[in-house]
Amino acid sequence: MSQITTAPPTTQTPDELDVVIVGAGYSGIHQLYHYRKKGYSVRILEAESDLGGAWWWTRYPGARVDSEAPFYQLSIEEVWKDWVWTERFPCRDEVCEYYQHVERTLGIKQNIRFNSRVVSARFSDLLHQWVITTQDGFVIHSRFFVLAIGAASKSYTPPFADITKFKGICIHTASWPEKLAVKGKRVAVVGTGASGVQVIQSIGSQVAHLTVFQRTPNYALAMQQRKLDKESQDKSKRLFPDMFRRCRQTPNGFSFDKYPKSLHATTPEERLLFFEDLWTAGGWRFVTNNYMDIFTDQKANDQAYAFWRSKVCERVHDPEMQEKLAPTSPPYPFGSKRPSLEINYYDVFNQQNVDLVDLNKCEISKFTPSGIQTADGVDHVFDIIVLATGFHTFTGPYTALKVHAADGTDILEKWADGVYTNLGMTVHGFPNFFYMYGPQSPGSCNGPTCSEVQSDWIVGCISHALSNGFTRVEATREAEIEYRRLVLELNERSLSKSSTEPTSFKGDLAQYGRLCWEVAEDSYRGFVFSSQVGSRARL
Ligand SMILES: Cc1cc2nc3c(=O)[nH]c(=O)nc-3n(C[C@H](O)[C@H](O)[C@H](O)COP(=O)(O)OP(=O)(O)OC[C@H]3O[C@@H](n4cnc5c(N)ncnc54)[C@H](O)[C@@H]3O)c2cc1C
Repeated sequence: MSQITTAPPTTQTPDELDVVIVGAGYSGIHQLYHYRKKGYSVRILEAESDLGGAWWWTRYPGARVDSEAPFYQLSIEEVWKDWVWTERFPCRDEVCEYYQHVERTLGIKQNIRFNSRVVSARFSDLLHQWVITTQDGFVIHSRFFVLAIGAASKSYTPPFADITKFKGICIHTASWPEKLAVKGKRVAVVGTGASGVQVIQSIGSQVAHLTVFQRTPNYALAMQQRKLDKESQDKSKRLFPDMFRRCRQTPNGFSFDKYPKSLHATTPEERLLFFEDLWTAGGWRFVTNNYMDIFTDQKANDQAYAFWRSKVCERVHDPEMQEKLAPTSPPYPFGSKRPSLEINYYDVFNQQNVDLVDLNKCEISKFTPSGIQTADGVDHVFDIIVLATGFHTFTGPYTALKVHAADGTDILEKWADGVYTNLGMTVHGFPNFFYMYGPQSPGSCNGPTCSEVQSDWIVGCISHALSNGFTRVEATREAEIEYRRLVLELNERSLSKSSTEPTSFKGDLAQYGRLCWEVAEDSYRGFVFSSQVGSRARL
């Protein structure tokens, strides 16, 4: 039951829930946990048959988290107190096992309807209620509606000519079959983003021949993977509450921050030793803990690139291959795209059975029955083509799931002339609707930290409404315009500046969190709360 403590009277219908959440990944589970604690009626609708979020369907060989333990987990004490990671960068199966531990600890499955892909949702301005429909025809009504569907629920396949003519196996990394034998096969991997790097380093030594089609080199960093033991994790747990709070105070959602010194204030010796230390520490430390001006000063950025390049060239023997993987002149600023973490990625390119096609020099012309033909007329023959071509992030997931305002307007129609949101979580014209990890949400940070910052804010906003008897909350148009202005301004200042619509909030996670809490503390500035009896309570 909702905790409505004051008038006006609610007209909640008996079969209406307080909150319906879509998606049972970290974001959805964090939401569910807090609503249950408050005694609200809540349900998650999840498309898949089990817990795990993105990790449930991520099955390609070598799939592994790039955010190191212990940061890549929920900050809920009942869950972390008895959980032990076996590796610093856990593999996909371990993350799925962690989700089962979440279930054993919290018993959340009773509030989840699995195999329930939501296809549409529409707001009723008469009832102040969302009507949500799943693919199998199930309909559910709720006062508030939260999308926690992640940023990667819709895979992207470039429009390659004649793709269906290929007679071998063509798979996207997002839909890797349970059992696919690559041993002894001729394999192509198209794309060298996060999943491309992991697949390449994992299958490179098993296949007969591997051809990598690369558009943009990945500035992959040394993972420095290691086993973790229970004893040292148990000892560090007394600091976990501080650690989780600290993660929200940093730019990227980890407990560590930029080094508070300019690169230009250092000697070459100091710089070299510092870079070496960061490299040895591994993971994203070379990006997240580096000199404070690495991302604002091109000369400082170039030095970081030169060091990274020297590390790659130590590993890759052939000068031509070095130039493809780590060009002398940086093709984009160092760290402006999320680098992957690698274990043996660069070593794979020393193998005789591996080659790399630079798509900037030679495009893919078309797929053929036997493989891929490139612009130079060469026919590359394959048994298996792996599309490691990423996702329709940003507004992509909204093409599969229709979110309608009361007048029937689809959210994508609203965004056709530019994306307007308030705080990357709410949209004017779509009352009682919240989303996480979506358009204009923070982009480059540790997933669970980002989720929890947003989740706490949404829980606070919904609780504020329910405990004050408001049945409708909506972002104002003015607040959206203001937030969009900030998103565009941050994009302009960013080294990873996008020339089209920026997909995410490019400020620090800490800055984003502060902004959200300022809005809440200022009586939810930029939101209108009202009730079915029509009282307009806050502006
Ligand atoms: C291969 C891969 C590697 C990643 N590595 C990292 C990493 O190293 N570090 C990091 O911080 N982040 C990483 N991420 C990002 C990752 O998405 C987040 O860390 C985290 O999973 C976000 O949690 P979430 O709950 O918001 O979304 P998700 O985990 O994506 O969960 C969303 C859930 O919503 C469900 N869903 C989607 N659409 C519907 C629908 N229409 N109806 C019903 N259910 C639906 C999905 O089935 C899924 O279970 C990675 C993502 C991928 C795909």
